[in-house]
Amino acid sequence: MSRLPQISSSRPFGYPADDAPLSCGAHSLTKLAKRFGTPLYVYSGDQMLERLGLFQAALAHREHLVCYAVKANSTLAILKLFAERGAGFDIVSGGELERVLAAAPEAAGRVVFSGVGKTAEEIDRALDAEILAFNVESEAELALLAQRAAKRKRKARFALRVNPDVFAETHPYISTGLREHKFGIDIREARRIYAGAKGNRWLTPHGVSVHIGSQIRSAEPFGAAMMRVAKLVKQLSQDGIAIKTVDAGGGLGIDYHAAPGFDPKAKVAEYAAALEGALKGLDVQLLLEPGRFLVAQAGALVARVLYVKRNGKKTFVVLDAAMNDLIRPALYQAYHEIVPVAPRAGRAVTVDVVGPVCETGDFFARDRKIKPIEPGDLVAVLDAGAYGMAQSSNYNSRPRPAEVLVVGREAKLIRRRETLADLLGPEMV
Ligand SMILES: *Cc1c(COP(=O)(O)O)cnc(C)c1O
Repeated sequence: MSRLPQISSSRPFGYPADDAPLSCGAHSLTKLAKRFGTPLYVYSGDQMLERLGLFQAALAHREHLVCYAVKANSTLAILKLFAERGAGFDIVSGGELERVLAAAPEAAGRVVFSGVGKTAEEIDRALDAEILAFNVESEAELALLAQRAAKRKRKARFALRVNPDVFAETHPYISTGLREHKFGIDIREARRIYAGAKGNRWLTPHGVSVHIGSQIRSAEPFGAAMMRVAKLVKQLSQDGIAIKTVDAGGGLGIDYHAAPGFDPKAKVAEYAAALEGALKGLDVQLLLEPGRFLVAQAGALVARVLYVKRNGKKTFVVLDAAMNDLIRPALYQAYHEIVPVAPRAGRAVTVDVVGPVCETGDFFARDRKIKPIEPGDLVAVLDAGAYGMAQSSNYNSRPRPAEVLVVGREAKLIRRRETLADLLGPEMV
């Protein structure tokens, strides 16, 4: 039997041979860590494109646009990679718009702008960039959009983001499709609001959008939400409002435990079938906004073990990475698989894997069985490509990690490690 930890094939990391270190494509993580330092985010651009391709293929029979949700991982090189394959983008701030414009200005017309708190400045910039559509989340926002559009003499295409009141089983912080959540407009109000916008020469009703939450593992709630959207589209058509696009949002979940049976292609097919079932007979373009599903499993956070310490019965593995680099375990009690880059022989031990930050919440795993680990070893925290770097911070005055993107035979530094000078730069004494 191999002494190597099993790694599910839904991840682009593996041990090429019994005595070889964990690799991403042709690149050993030992070598990448040596070259770029730790903590280090390593991504497989090849897997990101493969995942994008799964959605594009599953929707091939219908006019569609896959708008990558920038907030999952907004590093410029990743946006550029997706843009070159025809992806659009779902943004939630003016900052994300600037990122898309910097990475792929030609993709501005494929941008949809979501978010409950758009400012006038952000709206203006998006109008000037001639984005595809605004996903409007309140009547007040629609009024502001109309005002800004009139002022700039630019027509604003909009979709109401409706709240379908559908329950999706996920962590409460990332469930968004219930009436009690702050997101969207009660679907029962939508028809009236579209009718109200009909006479405004600066507003073009373009679509209907919905987003019910994140890390949703079953296709069923997506289908249920889309049924309600489809019904609304038909009602709007009766009202003389021709809807061109239906935006199903993002939220398709991955398997962080990566049971051997997890098959991304089958998952996407099942998801697409649920949406298609609801949209049967409707002649609309389908927009999707996947984030996590495209990038999560493509990424790992590589860290070095600083200390192994014992406190009473517990053993703590202290890494040079911390919650400021990857906050998901602390924020959502999220599970991440952790594997040694160069596994040692010997019996697995039960440890807590933690970072140096002064918070008890600063952990990557608790009571985890893991191959024996010594100070100086490298470990990889898997499935860290989404909501990892994007949610990182400088807490405890820690510079953010570097990021490396592997595409084909090339491993490219796409964001250098932050320096202490970067940290202190904006401050004055
Ligand atoms: C967060 C978000 C997404 C992406 O969610 P994932 O779970 O990463 O796919 C898509 N659309 C909107 C409006 C979002 O807020």
